[in-house]
Amino acid sequence: MIETLKVLEEIQRIDLEIKAIEEQEKEFIANLDQLGTELKEENAAIEALGAEAGGLAAQIKEAEERIRESGERVSKDEKRLNSVKNDRELNAITKEINGANKSRKQGEQEKNQLAARVSEKEGALNAKKESAAQKQADFDRLSAELVEKRNAWKEAAQSKLKSKDDIKSKIRPDILRKYEMIRSKRGGLGLAQVKNEICQGCFTHIPPQVYIMLKRGTEELQSCPHCHRLLYAETPRELEAV
Ligand SMILES: [Zn+2]
Repeated sequence: MIETLKVLEEIQRIDLEIKAIEEQEKEFIANLDQLGTELKEENAAIEALGAEAGGLAAQIKEAEERIRESGERVSKDEKRLNSVKNDRELNAITKEINGANKSRKQGEQEKNQLAARVSEKEGALNAKKESAAQKQADFDRLSAELVEKRNAWKEAAQSKLKSKDDIKSKIRPDILRKYEMIRSKRGGLGLAQVKNEICQGCFTHIPPQVYIMLKRGTEELQSCPHCHRLLYAETPRELEAV
């Protein structure tokens, strides 16, 4: 069983390396997805800010139109002052001029307030555009990197699978099947070490008689009664040295 355990340990080492490659790929893709989501959100925010700035610009145009109309009314009324016939007419025209002047002033105030809000929106818009451009550049760079990395990961995993294939014939097929089955159910670990009667796979105590058999090195492999992982008492290399 020492030889079998040595091979199983080697197989598990290779399997864990393959798993690490897969996790690296998953993490990379998750980060890229996250960046893509953020980019989408920023672009939506840019669109919303642009629409708000556009709405304010339309309001500025309306205010400008009111200012122009009031100005026209004032100059028209001022001309009429030259041909005024009586006090009643004078009062009426003066009242109209005052009203038009007031409306022009209000229009100007409104326009200034709107302009301040537009410049505020434009500031926020520029900041968002800058950050979105940076994110887009990162996204493009990482997407290109992913293509290269995928090939490298695939090659590395294939070469590891090949070395697994090369050694797996050294153990009994039923033992390999058992290892593979447990590995698939137990987070990638089919083999676990036992230290001080504790399975290092699930960290529960194993019965003393199993531990004794493990230490003795029986012909059959022992399994953890809790997590079912195949067990070894020491590292196979240590066993070999005994
Ligand atoms: Zn266990």
